[in-house]
Amino acid sequence: MPTILDGKKVASDIKNEISARVEERKSKGFRAPNLAIIIVGDDGASHTYVNGKIAACKSVGFDFTLMHFASTISEEKLLKHVENLNSDEDIDGFIVQLPLPEHISVEKITESIKPEKDVDGFTNQNFGSIVSKNQLILPATPFGVMELLRRYDVETEGKHCVIVGASRLVGAPLGMMMTESAHATVTLCHKYTNDLASHTKSADILVVAVGKPGLISEDMVKEGAVIVDVGTTRVEDKTKKSGFRLSGDVDYDTVAPKTSFITPVPGGVGPMTIASLLLNTLKAYEDQNPEG
Ligand code: NAP
Repeated sequence: MPTILDGKKVASDIKNEISARVEERKSKGFRAPNLAIIIVGDDGASHTYVNGKIAACKSVGFDFTLMHFASTISEEKLLKHVENLNSDEDIDGFIVQLPLPEHISVEKITESIKPEKDVDGFTNQNFGSIVSKNQLILPATPFGVMELLRRYDVETEGKHCVIVGASRLVGAPLGMMMTESAHATVTLCHKYTNDLASHTKSADILVVAVGKPGLISEDMVKEGAVIVDVGTTRVEDKTKKSGFRLSGDVDYDTVAPKTSFITPVPGGVGPMTIASLLLNTLKAYEDQNPEG
C-alpha cells in the first residue's frame, strides 16, 4: 500500500513551528505578523477559501485584516487599496483572492503589489526569483507541493517529474522549482499535449493540476509512481450536508494501489497551500521587521 502524503498533518506541524516563532518574537517585544486579505464579490468558494485562511492566521497567532468589496468596485479603486496596503507599515503581507470580476485585470492588480508583501508569490519578480540563487517569496501552491515531498523524503534528484497543467499559478512555477531546487527532469503537459498517457506513464513523480476529475486513470500511471493531485473541483454529492464534495484529477481508488506515495483530496495539497501562505507571511514579516 502507498504512503499517504498527509498534507493536513504536515501543515499542522508547520503551523506549530510558526506559532513557536511568533511567540518567540512577541516575547522580544515585537508585534504579531499581520496578513491582509482583499476579497471582491460574493463567490461562495472564494469566501470558503478566505475563511480557511483567516482560521489559519488565528491558529498561529497572526493578526489579520479582512477587506471585502462589492463586485462593482472599479479597477482604479482596487488599485488604490493595494497602494495603501503597500505603504501600510502595520501590514506585512497581503493577498487579493482570485477570481476577480471580469472588468478588473488580474495582471494589473497582481503587478501593483509590492513584491516584499506579495505572500501569494504571484508577482513577476517573485515568480522569476525561482530561477535565481536569491529566491524571494515563492508561489504558495508549488511551494507547498515541494515542502510536502521534502518532508516525506521523496527522492527527486534525476527523477522524471511529469506535471499535467501548466498554469501561471501552479504547473509552470512548479516545473521551474522541480528543475532548480529538486534537480528533477521535468515534462510539462498542457491541453495541447498529444497522447497525454504516453507522458504520464513514464513519470516517477506525477503532479496533476488541471481541475478535471477522473483525468488520470489507473492505466496512465507507472507502478510505484509518486502522485501529487493538486486538482480541486466541487462535484455534486447529495450524501453531504453541503451538497458537494471536493474531487481531485486522479481516480484515487484505482490509482492509489499502484503508487508508492499519493496525496488525498481533500487533505493533501490544499492544507499545504495555506501553510505556505503562512510561511510566506512569516518571511515577509521577518524581512521587513529584522531583529536588529
Ligand atoms: P487553470 O489556470 O485552469 O490551469 C489548468 C491547466 O491545465 C492549464 O495549463 C490548462 O491548459 C491545462 N489543461 C486543461 N485541460 C487539460 C487536459 N485535458 N490535459 C492537460 N492539461 C490540461 O487552473 P489552476 O489554477 O492551475 O488550478 C488547477 C487545479 O488545481 C484546479 O482544480 C484548482 O482548483 C486546483 N488548485 C488547487 C490548489 C490547492 O491548494 N489545492 C491551489 C491552486 C489550484 P490551458 O491553459 O491551455 O487551458
